[in-house]
Amino acid sequence: VKRQHTTEGSQILPRPPVVTVMGHVDHGKTSLLDALRNTSVAAKEAGGITQHVGAFVVGMPDSGPSITFLDTPGHAAFSEMRARGAAVTDIVVLVVAADDGVMPQTLEAIAHARSANVPIVVAINKCDKPGANPERVKNQLAAEGIELEDIGGNVQVVEVSAMKSTGLDKLEEALLLEAVDMDLKARVEGPAQAYVVEARLDKGRGPLATIIVKAGTLVSGHHVVIGSQWGRLRAIRDMAGKQTDRATPAMPVEIEGLKGLPMAGDDVIVVESEERAKMLSEGRKRKYERDRLLKAEEARVAEAEKKEAESEEGFIRVELPIIVKSDVQGTAQAVADALRTLNSPQVFVNIVHSGVGAVSHSDLERAQACGACIVAFNVKGGGSGNLSAAQASVKVFHHRVIYHLLEDIGKLIVEKAPGVSELEVAGEAEVLSIFKVLGKRRSEEDGVSIAGCKVMDGRVCRSGMMRLLRSGEVLFEGSCASLKREKQDVEQVGKGNECGLVMGEWNDFRVGDVIQCMEAVIRKPKFVSSESGAVRIEC
Ligand code: GDP
Repeated sequence: VKRQHTTEGSQILPRPPVVTVMGHVDHGKTSLLDALRNTSVAAKEAGGITQHVGAFVVGMPDSGPSITFLDTPGHAAFSEMRARGAAVTDIVVLVVAADDGVMPQTLEAIAHARSANVPIVVAINKCDKPGANPERVKNQLAAEGIELEDIGGNVQVVEVSAMKSTGLDKLEEALLLEAVDMDLKARVEGPAQAYVVEARLDKGRGPLATIIVKAGTLVSGHHVVIGSQWGRLRAIRDMAGKQTDRATPAMPVEIEGLKGLPMAGDDVIVVESEERAKMLSEGRKRKYERDRLLKAEEARVAEAEKKEAESEEGFIRVELPIIVKSDVQGTAQAVADALRTLNSPQVFVNIVHSGVGAVSHSDLERAQACGACIVAFNVKGGGSGNLSAAQASVKVFHHRVIYHLLEDIGKLIVEKAPGVSELEVAGEAEVLSIFKVLGKRRSEEDGVSIAGCKVMDGRVCRSGMMRLLRSGEVLFEGSCASLKREKQDVEQVGKGNECGLVMGEWNDFRVGDVIQCMEAVIRKPKFVSSESGAVRIEC
């Protein structure tokens, strides 16, 4: 293959755009990426077989324009990378199903793109479906302030079908046009700056990271520091799995030779020697550890304060420790983020550990030690054999679909949640007349007052807590000493009926007073999953 960059000096040259696909669940993000991948360079070179490496290139890398797609669809990965300071994505493809239209996660994706200041190209998917209505989608997007080109704006819209692979060329054209507009350029010569988009552990080859070069050229044999990890680039592979000795801007490659597993979003920098790499990595490790401790301490304090506030309010609080295992680092992070969406002031999904690979013996040990359950996403079973009873009792959830996972975890949270008892107004009665019954000494102080009431709402119970209101103000709260209906002692009186009521330590009834009967109810959180794929726990 001809390599232009070796002869181009320190020129700043146009570089391919890096694209992330986002949109609502089931709108076809994965299908669209699959369809695009089939047209990719790697698929062509490798005869349709590509390995899962976190990114792929469409178009020709060495001649003519190309596009790099990040292979992890969804918002979690996008915001995770941004949170780590990695502005990898140049353009967001917003996938909206033509039959379903704009949904909650569509809006979320728009918000993410806007806050990151990344332009959007809209792909209206599933246009092959009989119920497809692209015009409706466009109107909905316009209503969200997306200035589509159809109506004089600058946001491009293309109609596609991931299933039938139609419109993909139009989408690619739109992305290339956007890239030209953005005037994406990068320095080609000189030391590489790059970001990790995914990392995994390979049994034979050790830690592997898919990275995208932002500037410069990454050369095989160089020493690198990635996040707090370091290593020497033993091998660089392109998306077809072919070894190459260098990677230029926007080219996703898999690198081998790291001493540890980096994280998605980590930056890659090239240093001159192994010593320097080690030193920098040590320094960063210490800094990260310090940051982590600081953060943990902050979180602990915030948590303690929150707990204190909540215990006063009688909050329901459930904590669910979870260990996440997944096939690749990016997915593990996305799964952890998705699980955290279940969090609320009442629910605390505590990701105690996340990692790559099958569920191991030490995962089970760890889970057992901290009472966690294990989420195994996209990984095969394993780790069984010689388990102690306690280890065998650890709950392991195997899933391949985020939504189903959230459903299971949501149900578990509800199951674990202790009920909280609360007083609730069960009924309300109005005082219509007052009877005084004199006591032994025949004086009024010695006697009792009976409130002749009519139950206006709900029911009034003998066992309830009575609350006396006058002109809307609570004057007294106490138990019910006697409840009678037509001279008979009764346990409760329903709406519309009259009764005689005596409160223990309260004698001063007036006509027009309102007596509320309060009863204790046990409140438990509810698990709510909507058809749109959103999952919530309501407390
Ligand atoms: P994701 O959750 O956004 O990644 O969505 P998927 O790619 O998993 O697609 C969800 C469902 O929609 C799957 O059953 C797909 O087969 C289907 N689907 C995706 N794209 C199309 C399309 O262009 N046309 C039709 N008819 N179905 C599609």
